[in-house]
Amino acid sequence: MSTLEIRDLQVAVEDKEILRGVNLTVKSGETHAIMGPNGSGKSTLAYAIAGHPKYTITGGQVLLDGADLLDLSVDERARAGLFLAMQYPVEVPGVSVSNFLRSAVTAVRGEAPKLREFAKDLKNGMDALSIDAAFAQRNLNEGFSGGEKKRHEILQLELLKPKIAVLDETDSGLDVDALRVVSEGINRFRASGETGVLLITHYTRILRYVKPDFVHVFAGGRVVEQGGPELAEKLEAEGYEQYTKASA
Ligand code: ADP
Ligand code: MG
Ligand code: MG
Repeated sequence: MSTLEIRDLQVAVEDKEILRGVNLTVKSGETHAIMGPNGSGKSTLAYAIAGHPKYTITGGQVLLDGADLLDLSVDERARAGLFLAMQYPVEVPGVSVSNFLRSAVTAVRGEAPKLREFAKDLKNGMDALSIDAAFAQRNLNEGFSGGEKKRHEILQLELLKPKIAVLDETDSGLDVDALRVVSEGINRFRASGETGVLLITHYTRILRYVKPDFVHVFAGGRVVEQGGPELAEKLEAEGYEQYTKASA
């Protein structure tokens, strides 16, 4: 059982205050959706939790099972059980998907997985996500389609088995078939009940497939409303205008 607790988090980018006191608690087995208009600070929250150097923490805490992640290096955060899938994954020429994934598993576990065991887990994960076997030998993110990038993110989830997964715009750029495969992957993964999921999204579309337990509306760098899955339906019908007006 794990808990991610974000307490009064304040974050600035290039001296501009973006997050203005975010409070949020995510436990294993729970799925929280963060929804909000463009520019409301959703990705800033993900980057700040990840330890991206451009994002300056000006106040607050991010605790994973009581330990402040903000004191840890990016690698240490991953080892502590945090997983972040980024909106724009970077290309790494010369590193294959397979090598990258094995290094990632090694980094998180603190020891290399046995080759046969890793090969088996990799194959099972790829099969479940309908990823072609040749994909494992391709260079990381080089020429990946939107759908391939997202499937690759979910493959990482399945192999790394994090305590808390932060998924930023996992649904962007996916066609309906890819959205279904990716959503099924997330659902399979969270069914273990061992991971808490923070699903950041602008659109309600993915929430038809991945049912959140809690929905938080983000506007102007803070949470302005919270509710259950019904809140996503309300947003779908009414949009974000009421919140952007109120926070402006
Ligand atoms: P969202 O993901 O909700 O669309 P972001 O977190 O990307 O919002 O952006 C929130 C605000 O922070 C925006 O005004 C954006 O311009 C600014 N911002 C975010 N990242 C950077 C950055 N790296 N450099 C400059 N401004 C940034
Ligand atoms: Mg964003
Ligand atoms: Mg403060």
